[in-house]
Amino acid sequence: MKLSKMLISTLREVPAEAEIVSHKLMLRSGMMRKMASGIYNFMPLGIRVIKKIENIVRDEMEAAGSQEFLASAILPAELWQESGRWEVFGPEMFKLKDRNEREFCLGPTHEEVFTDIARNEIKSYRQLPLNLFQIQTKYRDERRPRFGVMRSREFIMKDAYSFDRDFDGLDISYNKMNEAYVNIFKRCGLNSKCVEADSGAMGGAGSAEFMIKSEVGEDEVVYCNNCKYAANMEKAPAIAQKEKSEELKEIAKVKTPHAKTIEELVAFFNTTASKFAKTLIYKADDKVIAVMVRGDREVNETKVINTIGGVLSFEMADGETVKRATSAEIGFAGPVNLKADMLLVDNEVASMTNLIAGANETDFHYDNLNYGRDFEGVVGDFRKVVEGDKCPKCGGSLTVARGIEVGHIFKLGTKYSIAMGANFIDENGSQKPLVMGCYGIGINRTMAAIIEQHHDDNGIVWPLAVAPYQVIVVPVAVKDEEQMKVAEQLYNELKSIGVEVLMDDRDERAGVKFKDADLIGIPMRVTVGKKINEGKVEFKLRSSSETEVIEIASVVERIKKEFENNELKL
Ligand code: ATP
Ligand code: MG
Repeated sequence: MKLSKMLISTLREVPAEAEIVSHKLMLRSGMMRKMASGIYNFMPLGIRVIKKIENIVRDEMEAAGSQEFLASAILPAELWQESGRWEVFGPEMFKLKDRNEREFCLGPTHEEVFTDIARNEIKSYRQLPLNLFQIQTKYRDERRPRFGVMRSREFIMKDAYSFDRDFDGLDISYNKMNEAYVNIFKRCGLNSKCVEADSGAMGGAGSAEFMIKSEVGEDEVVYCNNCKYAANMEKAPAIAQKEKSEELKEIAKVKTPHAKTIEELVAFFNTTASKFAKTLIYKADDKVIAVMVRGDREVNETKVINTIGGVLSFEMADGETVKRATSAEIGFAGPVNLKADMLLVDNEVASMTNLIAGANETDFHYDNLNYGRDFEGVVGDFRKVVEGDKCPKCGGSLTVARGIEVGHIFKLGTKYSIAMGANFIDENGSQKPLVMGCYGIGINRTMAAIIEQHHDDNGIVWPLAVAPYQVIVVPVAVKDEEQMKVAEQLYNELKSIGVEVLMDDRDERAGVKFKDADLIGIPMRVTVGKKINEGKVEFKLRSSSETEVIEIASVVERIKKEFENNELKL
């Protein structure tokens, strides 16, 4: 491709709306353009990267025995009503009506569709196991679309669904997908980590997420410094630290004017935050739920939701609800005389002695409260893990880092097959529900994650396997006939052996061309300049600062070597 003919415009300025590197670079390099909030158009360069990632995914899915499929993106409401998710999905679902008032949605995911296909097409155990995948556009009206295609409202997902006769079969299918994912992300040049994930209150027999370690990730990931344990923060169990036991003291009501926050209370009582228990008030549908954690801890809302079970909405209670539950101004909530439908007490709080908590009375706190003697509730693990907590597997020390979720594998079990009547006949002639798994990868989020891991101050540094073009030939002076002749020859020769090559034939200064080549991240650059008089050109890897001066005749070999170094075929 000749750059002079290509629809591309690079931007020198950083677009104001972009906060993270990948978003900035995708706009600056002209990979994509925004059309509306969370909705983007991919430009010729960008779509080539998308296709590269899709093909790696396709290749590994097929190698793992999955068959490609393509379902519609417009889905009838009835399917979702059958599974019960038409309401549960909430405002994230784009709903629409046809001219006859029949309801549809733009598919945010496809479990229902594939369960429907399975119940129509799978009759017998002889057809099992079966694994189907598609690469298709999904629609989610995200509450906060942001970071470009990291969290957009329209995005491409590879989603796969496995069907087995039993849970042992599901384990095999799931492990195959796990391996395929490891290969996919490795081939994309990503350093990924598979972490245990929450299977949600909806049930499910296990799930894992593929995370890319990154400061801009929206997920928190917990790692063990000693063993291989890794989990999403939502899932990671917190092991209660053993308190040194003290003698139980008599409960005391203390006037604490103007001391509401933990910081103010720490100063007032002249002690540490770990002596306090805070009581947070939530609303789960129409129920008031109170959760107690130590003063220096945070509530893990996923654990709370999973404990309550079956809630549609869950949020911090509004001021009025808090006042009603505590009969006090905000800032004095505690476990004694609290008007809540449920009090959840974190393990750690239940094992504290003589703790300080709100008294449910404006300007008052209780000192020396003790679980069992002064208050009771549902005791369990309700807090977030913190740095230094004990690993649940080996007792080692845990670290918390941020990650980008690029893929998710999930053992669905029989949740959808039972709800929607997707059965098969086993070898004894009896009818059984299909045992299912589902497996997603965000294609455009993967593209953004690659940029997060592969860039420098000058732009993107594409790994060869996903680069939009592999080589860029840059004639320094397009008015110089000799230079253009050599450049054209190299360009044609490379094309003829299957290298994806760009030629920057624009009449621009060399500096401008180099800047653009760096910004768009082409892995190899061949600069054709004055040295052609000595039969030489410059060869430079985008990932290296060194320039090699090589014979024109050895350019092809040098490029072939780079393919070998990257274990790629030409
Ligand atoms: P998140 O927690 O980030 O919202 P999710 O759990 O909703 O993700 P899944 O339903 O498991 O995501 O979807 C599978 C994959 O699709 C995710 O791992 C992610 O790579 C991608 N994905 C999900 N939502 C978006 C989005 N809004 N924009 C881009 N990619 C997305
Ligand atoms: Mg989501």
